[in-house]
Amino acid sequence: MPDAGFSALPYDELLTCIRCGFCLPVCPTYASTGLETASPRGRLALMKAAADGELAATPRFAREMFFCLECRACETACPAGVPFAHIMEATREVLHERGLSPATASPAGAFAMRHLLPNQRRLRRAVSLAATANRLRLPQLGRRLGMVPPILAEQAAALPPAPGPRRLLDRYAPAGAAKARIALFTGCVMDAMFPATHDATARLLARAGAEVTVIPGQTCCGALHDHAGDRAGAVELAKANIAALEASGADLLVHNAGGCGAMLKGYGRLFADAGEGAAWQDRAAALAAASRDASEALAELWPEGDIGQLDADVTLQDSCHLVHAQKVRSAPRALLGRVRGLRVREMAGADSCCGSAGIYNLTNPEDSAQVLDRKMGAVADTGANIVVTANPGCLIQMRWGIVRHRLEGRLRAVHIMDLLDLAVRGEHATPEAGGRTGQA
Ligand code: SF4
Ligand code: SF4
Repeated sequence: MPDAGFSALPYDELLTCIRCGFCLPVCPTYASTGLETASPRGRLALMKAAADGELAATPRFAREMFFCLECRACETACPAGVPFAHIMEATREVLHERGLSPATASPAGAFAMRHLLPNQRRLRRAVSLAATANRLRLPQLGRRLGMVPPILAEQAAALPPAPGPRRLLDRYAPAGAAKARIALFTGCVMDAMFPATHDATARLLARAGAEVTVIPGQTCCGALHDHAGDRAGAVELAKANIAALEASGADLLVHNAGGCGAMLKGYGRLFADAGEGAAWQDRAAALAAASRDASEALAELWPEGDIGQLDADVTLQDSCHLVHAQKVRSAPRALLGRVRGLRVREMAGADSCCGSAGIYNLTNPEDSAQVLDRKMGAVADTGANIVVTANPGCLIQMRWGIVRHRLEGRLRAVHIMDLLDLAVRGEHATPEAGGRTGQA
């Protein structure tokens, strides 16, 4: 029986697909399966059929929709400008409301969305408990007892150790007269697992001439909620972030996680879709306009000259939501190119998803592993000993790839801000107690 909820899908946008198929070669799930239903074009056809009342919100339909990584590579490839993620998120909202979203339907998922991600203290505690369980090898014990699937035990083994004490300052003074007043966005997972990366980001921006503050009142950006279809949850968090930025008086909101950045830059559209009034839409659009990825801000503030020195071979794994959603491709490459001694080796398909995709590696671990295995082959082909990225999910996924492909000791995963910070400090790119910085 058709589901009336699908009548609210953006039908004009669905009609923009001209079925040319240019998106198929860049779609990771199409590469894994060869199935039209697992391609962008096929998914658009399924969503149009749902909007036409020909398909219902069944578990099978939901599986097809949540098999998509929402990596948005299809948007970059599409000559017709189909806003794929916008249509997919509207579809997932209906599925979430019907209890068919894998991230929010289970009690554990719903608890994490509602009570862990928006609460830094609880999330840090959860990260610390997970690290302790790992140290005690509990996931491996669970696997031997048949209580934990082998693939989840493998993922757990690759998680970083608990971070050290959070050393983030409230304010970082600029070197010289302030060129900009920047509010650093700290987010949820990034802050709980890689707090030292925030410190490195703030120090780099301050060195480049910005006054950087870590503003109170900010919270999770809501991206994981929105991708799971929980639009109301995302809006609630967005309102807190908007109020926090407005109270700060900062010129820019700078983030170092590709997924968070895409969400923050998309707040205007989120509020329009959610039917929030004009005042909130304007406030959301103002936050979006002030948002910059850390690589964009740093390249702008530090426009010329070397950025330190480092003797290493690196390859860049683009964060999907940085490159395909925010369209930031050149800034990270330009920054890496200015580190003396660094040999940058471009990876084939660097802008193709690594399989992390928010919590896709938890909801679809086997599918995620298939995507990851292809990615690790591409990383190995570069001969690099450091893979650099700009998103906590990608960092965790790269760590899993390193463990899964037995590359420990030969390859490390490092956040680009940590790498630049090491270069500026003139230190060797040696991991500093693993999880304390965005390194593996
Ligand atoms: S590239 Fe764009 S227009 Fe062509 S099939 Fe894919 S989504 Fe449709
Ligand atoms: S968002 Fe990514 S996984 Fe989903 S259809 Fe587009 S290319 Fe494929």
